[in-house]
Amino acid sequence: WAPHEFEEQGQKLIQLIREYFENIRETPVSTDITPKELLNMLDGPIPNKAESFDLTLDETWEKIIPHLTHWNHPSFHAYFSITASFPGILADLLISSLNVNAMVWKASPAASALEKIVLRWITEMVGYDPSSDGVLINNASLATFYALVAARDALTDLEVRTKGLTGRVLPTLRIYTSDQAHSSVDKAAIALGIGTDHAVRIPTDEYYQMIPEELEKVILSDLEKGFRPMAVVATVGTTATGSVDPLSSISDICKKHGIWLHIDAAYGGFWNVVPEIKNKSEDLQLGDSIVVNPHKCLYTPLEVTAMFCRRQGALSNSFRLVPEYLQTENEDGSIDYMDFSLQLGRSFRSLKLWWIIRSFGLEGLTSRMRRSIQLAEWLEKEVNLHPDFECVTTSHFPLLCIRYVPEHLQNIWTELKLDENEESKKYLDKLNAQIMQKLNQSGLVYLSHAVIREGYVIRISIGNIKQNLDDIKTLWDTIQKIAKEVNQDSPS
Ligand code: PLP
Repeated sequence: WAPHEFEEQGQKLIQLIREYFENIRETPVSTDITPKELLNMLDGPIPNKAESFDLTLDETWEKIIPHLTHWNHPSFHAYFSITASFPGILADLLISSLNVNAMVWKASPAASALEKIVLRWITEMVGYDPSSDGVLINNASLATFYALVAARDALTDLEVRTKGLTGRVLPTLRIYTSDQAHSSVDKAAIALGIGTDHAVRIPTDEYYQMIPEELEKVILSDLEKGFRPMAVVATVGTTATGSVDPLSSISDICKKHGIWLHIDAAYGGFWNVVPEIKNKSEDLQLGDSIVVNPHKCLYTPLEVTAMFCRRQGALSNSFRLVPEYLQTENEDGSIDYMDFSLQLGRSFRSLKLWWIIRSFGLEGLTSRMRRSIQLAEWLEKEVNLHPDFECVTTSHFPLLCIRYVPEHLQNIWTELKLDENEESKKYLDKLNAQIMQKLNQSGLVYLSHAVIREGYVIRISIGNIKQNLDDIKTLWDTIQKIAKEVNQDSPS
């Protein structure tokens, strides 16, 4: 391609993207095409000869885009409702164009400098020690893994970094996390060779928050058995319900027993930008390490995660390894970001955050995030007013778990004294699962579910930058309508 062709195609693409966003509300949120149909449609031999980009672009719009689940859609409420904002999208274009590899300072001076600055901004936004070591990586699962590697290597007498885990008698290492924590904690235990049996799940209370007394009980019992407590992973914003673990009590226990505290604030951390939420949330400062995810709440296209560790030098103690070809002279103030994770080659992620934060300003980010919280509060009120629905859990983040419990069934069960019966619970689980399935098949909205103590719940995340009250009203109308239809079709 000549540069002018790149510009022509680029303009065409930007126009298509503009139209995609302009028409997104009229687009089905997801597709009902089967995997087989999709694979048959897309499969083909490797093109031997160069094809026209016009054709490739046409086919992308004809065959790919209609068969995606649109995470950018204002009616997408599954997992976490996220947004690729325009400054972030444009930054991705420039990042790819420059193709800078931010591995060592000398190989990427301004990219590394910007990473340092953006990371400091983030510590201020979420409330963490600005002098901590930080790094941008691709996701929170890896951040938790890296933090736990640092926690393991902080047990310096074990010398695991150099001697490994095998061939010696080592104490069994234990990680503690709540029964609501993300599966990435177990994955880290697998990758660390600690094993999932030793990632101990601590029970939670009625609000799905880790019970500190239970944590301490398990730690004391483990110490008696000769296990070595390595780390506690607390969560600020659990995946299912958005619950927040009581960090200050957990931190006291960690300090008392010399245990590393890692805080998974992948979802909850950035909501601290909104002062009302920060006042209600827990102090991230208590973590030896934390993870926060701009790609979950900060209108940042995938993949950007920020990890911090206030034990300076701990991450590089685990991950710094410099082969000859990467030896460079370090001047005062320089940082080689390859030292903080397993990744050597690293994209220029900081530019994306720099553009987003500058383009919205702290004020703009706060007001948009606050609107999501207000939308969730509106929906919570509506759900609670409805006789056939209950808001099972609420969080101070915009995340709701709701359950359809039709009033007439409640009345029948009360009459028959079957209210707490397992059968009725199972029936409601099935009913709610059917509603979820129909909702997602409708193409009008897209949701995901959780199974918590109350049973199968429809989980609603709000957070897309374009979501407005009309979108949430439509969502609520659609849920009520489909629930009624499913209920009428179900034998009770
Ligand atoms: N931690 C929590 C609380 C999450 O909800 C998730 C994902 O949803 C993760 C970690 C993993 O995030 P990532 O997809 O960035 O690895």
